[in-house]
Amino acid sequence: MKYISTRGLIEPVSFREAVMMGLATDGGLLLPQSLPVADKEQIAAWRGMTYPQLAFAVLSLYITDIPAQQLEDIVNRSYAVFDHPEVTPLVQHGNIHILELFHGPTLAFKDVALQFLGNIFEYLLTESGGKMNILGATSGDTGSAAIYGVRGRERINIFILHPYKRVSRIQELQMTTVMDANVFNLAIQGSFDDGQAIVKAIFNDISFKKEHHLGAINSINWARIVAQIVYYIYAALKLTNNGQMVDFAVPTGNFGDIFAGYVARTLLPGHIRSLILATNENDILTGFVNKGEYSLSHKVVQTSSPSMDIQVASNFERFLYYLNGADPDRTRENMTDFSRKGYLAFTPEQQKIIKKNFLSKTVSQPETAATIKAFFEQYGYVLDPHTAVGVNAGQTFVDSSCPMVCLATAHPAKFGEAVSRATGRPVELPQSLQGLDKKESRCEVIAADREKVKAFVASHGL
Ligand SMILES: *Cc1c(COP(=O)(O)O)cnc(C)c1O
Repeated sequence: MKYISTRGLIEPVSFREAVMMGLATDGGLLLPQSLPVADKEQIAAWRGMTYPQLAFAVLSLYITDIPAQQLEDIVNRSYAVFDHPEVTPLVQHGNIHILELFHGPTLAFKDVALQFLGNIFEYLLTESGGKMNILGATSGDTGSAAIYGVRGRERINIFILHPYKRVSRIQELQMTTVMDANVFNLAIQGSFDDGQAIVKAIFNDISFKKEHHLGAINSINWARIVAQIVYYIYAALKLTNNGQMVDFAVPTGNFGDIFAGYVARTLLPGHIRSLILATNENDILTGFVNKGEYSLSHKVVQTSSPSMDIQVASNFERFLYYLNGADPDRTRENMTDFSRKGYLAFTPEQQKIIKKNFLSKTVSQPETAATIKAFFEQYGYVLDPHTAVGVNAGQTFVDSSCPMVCLATAHPAKFGEAVSRATGRPVELPQSLQGLDKKESRCEVIAADREKVKAFVASHGL
């Protein structure tokens, strides 16, 4: 399997090159040259598999340049650190199936991909004798998951930008209390979008990227997306024994998770009906689905689901490429237009395609709190605010013909304040979060300035 850029200005690359490249060198995003579609026999074989077995089978379709035994070993090690035997278990409450994606070391779904990516990086760098400086921006969860994916590893340093005082206390501590010498936290004085823009600009500086061996852990990295395809397949197969289809409700920020759902839907034909794109008040993507406009009409607002406090969704370009009939020239023009005007409109035919793939709802903060409260009172089950955004949208669109799977993207204790305000009770801290505030921590506060970040990476990098 080779990978192409959404902007069409690079030669196709291998999976290994795609992982190392992160953002394509023409500024686009990497995608498989063709999206695999499983046949009936494959699907039948997948039904009885454990999560790691299924992950290996699915990933093998997209990763054809790592020997099977090594890939299997990487997959097994990545999911052995999860604290549930099923890795991503499903639980049912009323007519909602919750897909718990938070059983990894940092209690958010980002672990599913970043444990895998950390192991892939280590494998490729050990083979090549190379080194890497990882640079990434986080709205809270990617940072700690990426740090836990590579902490203490040789050949890798990691630099994570988070928006200063705009992540939850627990999220901040999860990042800044990791004292391994290869970990650097930069708290930038700005929003997540500022951090993401800085990282993107630095990755677009090809000579700096090359000189400092920059590696990407944001969901622009294809390895992130590919690992997330697996749990859609896992959940869909569990709930479709009788030929019915499933819906997925996905709390969305950067469009990475739901894009993995789109790829999974293609891989597993006839199994996934709707992908429900749920946002908080940062709702540019809801406008895209419901009005056919991608419009940067307001600034990022802070909400109780901070990992989705994002407007410009970095993975949007991947879907845009397909929406343009896999035409890289049109995609490139669109992206140039968008960066100039902050606005894109779509034709009626395109709007039809969008609506065929997605339903969408914006869920306000009061609605999110009400959903947490109602779900707790009805079922005794505590949702985190991100998951609650998805559950609220899921409850809006659920119908009796199709099981509704809501992705639980974080453990409620990560966002304890918002959760306990909604339920009126304190949230129990899981063991891994106990005593974090008493640990030593390390963090650099820095202006939201590309040159300052570059200088820091240059002086502390490998
Ligand atoms: C990152 C994150 C999201 C959003 O996922 P995207 O892939 O950016 O759309 C939702 N919930 C939580 C808890 C997250 O950490």
